[in-house]
Amino acid sequence: MSKPADCVIGMGANLGARLQSMRQGAAQIASFCEVSAVSALYETFPVGPSQPLFLNAALRIQCEGDPEVLLSRLLAIERSLGRIRAQPWGPRTLDLDILWILDTSHRSSSLVVPHPQLTERCFAILPLLDVAPTAVDPATGTAYASLVSRLDCSGVSRVDGPSWAAL
Ligand code: ADP
Ligand code: MG
Repeated sequence: MSKPADCVIGMGANLGARLQSMRQGAAQIASFCEVSAVSALYETFPVGPSQPLFLNAALRIQCEGDPEVLLSRLLAIERSLGRIRAQPWGPRTLDLDILWILDTSHRSSSLVVPHPQLTERCFAILPLLDVAPTAVDPATGTAYASLVSRLDCSGVSRVDGPSWAAL
């Protein structure tokens, strides 16, 4: 059997009971993958249309199977927590993104890994570095940790440690 893929999932929530959605999402992911690390919890000023503050975090998981299958499972979890796609970049009860997979670049019409905005978004790269501090871009070998200093991360505050997930 092949080794499970080493993946980082980005999470975000800015509607309703945000922490509860984040916890339920994490628990659902943990039901089919091994969670090897949980990031701190961050609160983030939204990008895009005016909307409530986000909670953001990341999980590092070891997961069997194809990245497209993982994405479809994550989208099913979003739906189960009541996400409705009303507006691009709009408010959501739970957003789950595949940020990075060790040694893997993937590009299809439904999935691009590493996530195309990973290195532009403090709310994605800071949680990723909590759980994968030595992660590199699979195409260029650039360490993500070396890219953070050129970003303005003033909109992102750490509000809790990894125990937020209650896993
Ligand atoms: P965003 O997360 O950028 O705010 P959405 O969550 O609405 O946007 O995602 C829209 C679509 O983006 C998903 O249905 C999925 O097919 C696609 N997508 C492409 N790459 C990824 C990725 N790495 N992780 C999650 N979704 C992705
Ligand atoms: Mg998404």
